Amino acid sequence: MLSASNAMGSTVNWPGAKPIADLHTHSSASDGELTPTALVSKARALGLTTLALTDHDTVAGLDEARAAAEEAGIEFIPGIEIEIDFQPGEFHLLGYGIDAHSPALRAAIETLTRARCERNATILERIAQAGLPLDTARVEALSRESYIGRPHLADLLVSSGCARTRQDAFDKYLGKGKPFYVKKTCLPLEEALAVIASAGGVPAVAHPYSLFVSKAMLGMLFSQWTEMGIHGIEAYHPTAKYGQCAILERMARDRGMFITAGSDFHGKARPECGLGRTAGNMPIDARFRDELARALRDARYSVAP
Ligand code: AMP
Ligand code: ZN
Ligand code: FE
Ligand code: FE
Repeated sequence: MLSASNAMGSTVNWPGAKPIADLHTHSSASDGELTPTALVSKARALGLTTLALTDHDTVAGLDEARAAAEEAGIEFIPGIEIEIDFQPGEFHLLGYGIDAHSPALRAAIETLTRARCERNATILERIAQAGLPLDTARVEALSRESYIGRPHLADLLVSSGCARTRQDAFDKYLGKGKPFYVKKTCLPLEEALAVIASAGGVPAVAHPYSLFVSKAMLGMLFSQWTEMGIHGIEAYHPTAKYGQCAILERMARDRGMFITAGSDFHGKARPECGLGRTAGNMPIDARFRDELARALRDARYSVAP
């Protein structure tokens, strides 16, 4: 039997429960370790029957993942995770059930990709100016990737001998407030919502504690978001304690919002985010899959197959 400590220090048990879904995952199309096909294979090996792929600022992995999921007999939910302009913390918006070929979505992704490239160039310049030795073969290899984020640059700093681990690279150099941090151009919330809507998707706020605001402020934001048409909250995420996630669920329920749970699986780089499991190592079970499927249906989107 699996168990985990919740925020109150007591133990939460998951008697006989098995994960059947994961609703927040990343592939090598953004900063995940596995290709979309390998991600689907892993999901299948774990016995998952529903998988959502939610890469950062890209839909490049969706067609491959969908084909692999069809082959594996797994229900596939095409998604994306978009960063929103916000202070003081990070605001990530999930878009579920999107049409990857929507022109508005494609245009927004192009803008974000251009901004990301410019930002990466600035970060690399700052590293060079600081006189840190960079592994040029890795820089060259990176330049051939279609998506480069700070996690890739962190790995570059590690392979160049400037940091011990990816986390160490963030702590020393790349995290907010550190010497090589450069603000990323993000979409304003209204614009991201319009883009997701025109791609036929349903928005949900990912891991709300990363916004880094008080619970009272979160409550006000939840109410505002509801009015703006955001009806979903990813209440369960492995970076928060189970008890804290249960509080988010209650806050969202009070406002009639739907709940999702995800692992934010990226591969080995984030061992705490195991595929199919969320806060407190809780298996992502049918209730979460059903709730998202209902929200997609209500938005007149039918989940394939
Ligand atoms: P980017 O979109 O290029 O700014 O990269 C954002 C990603 O970097 C996030 O999704 C996290 O995976 C990772 N990240 C951001 N801040 C940190 C941090 N302080 N420590 C470790 N990883 C981080
Ligand atoms: Zn990521
Ligand atoms: Fe995120
Ligand atoms: Fe994520």
